Amino acid sequence: MAKVVQTSVVRWFRASAITVWPFIFVMSDNLPSWVLKHERVHAEQQRRWALYGLGVGLLVWWALYLIALPVGWNWWRARWEREAYLAVGMPKEAIEHELHKAPYYLWWM
Ligand SMILES: [Zn+2]
Repeated sequence: MAKVVQTSVVRWFRASAITVWPFIFVMSDNLPSWVLKHERVHAEQQRRWALYGLGVGLLVWWALYLIALPVGWNWWRARWEREAYLAVGMPKEAIEHELHKAPYYLWWM
């Protein structure tokens, strides 16, 4: 299971939590519980990739997550975020709305 570490560094990324397996970095101890649940899904996604590639997989996960395709839509990121939001019980329509928000998910629009 990923270890939760509190640090103000996540603020630099304008995030409330960032997962880099085997750690989940959070900006404070009193985040809504769904945030941690969401991040634990990302930790599990990264753990799977890290095991496949013996660590290299984790770099591939992050490369795919951060890549901005010419059209701006990141299929990998959308797929992983959709899985993480579904796990916390967010309705499908709300997830799609979230995924299409600029600039986090649709980088050029
Ligand atoms: Zn996420």
